[in-house]
Amino acid sequence: MAHGWLAPCALCGRQSRGYLYCHLLRRDRYPDYSFCSRTCTDLGMALARENNGVIDKTARETRALREARRPFAEALTALGLMEPFYNRTAAEIDQLIEAAVTGYVESMQRQAATPERSGTPFDDEIPF
Ligand SMILES: [Zn+2]
Repeated sequence: MAHGWLAPCALCGRQSRGYLYCHLLRRDRYPDYSFCSRTCTDLGMALARENNGVIDKTARETRALREARRPFAEALTALGLMEPFYNRTAAEIDQLIEAAVTGYVESMQRQAATPERSGTPFDDEIPF
C-alpha cells in the first residue's frame, strides 16, 4: 500500500493535499499517512490513535462497500434498471460497486501523477 506525499487520502481515497500524519512522529515505527482535508486528517488521526498508529482500511472499506449498496440500488431504481439486478447476490453487487470505485480512485491517482490534460472535448480515448 502506498504511503506518503503521493498517496491518495488515507481515509476517503481522494487526491491528498499535503495533510500528513505519522503516529507520535515515529516514521521508523509507524506508517505515515496523507489526507485530502483537515476533516479527513482529524478523523484519520483519531483512528490511528485508537489502533496502535495504524488506520485499518480493510474493515472500513468493507463497511463503505456495504453502505454504498443503498445509493447504488436507488440509482438503479431511478434509471429503471433494478429488475435485472434484483436477484443478484450482495457479493455480485459489491463487485460492481468496487469496480466503479476502484476505477475512479485509480484514475484520480494517475491524474495526480501527471499534468492536467488540455480540457478540450474528445481529448480522452473511448474505452469501448
Ligand atoms: Zn479525504
